[in-house]
Amino acid sequence: MIRIYVARHPTDAHLFKGILESEGIDALVRGEALFGARGEAPLTFDTLPSVWVLDTEEVGRASELAREYSRDVIPEGASTNWRCATCREFVEQQFTGCWNCGSLRVT
Ligand SMILES: [Zn+2]
Repeated sequence: MIRIYVARHPTDAHLFKGILESEGIDALVRGEALFGARGEAPLTFDTLPSVWVLDTEEVGRASELAREYSRDVIPEGASTNWRCATCREFVEQQFTGCWNCGSLRVT
């Protein structure tokens, strides 16, 4: 099982899960329970809901969908996202680590 997308909130996670399922990719949302209890905890991957893909052979296609989906939901002008130096994935600016491979941001 591979984490393919880190959502900003549970609705976001379910929306993307629905997109994956409409493409025939089995997906799972995790971390929803933690979201409500997050409180003042820092914004990290562990406290945000995330979407996981069950079949590792679908990961490539799911990543592509995640990229397209992120492009859709990120408002115009939010060009502060950074790109992981290790795996070349785009990461939202509020995160200090890559969602895909865990590498820390290099400035
Ligand atoms: Zn990375």
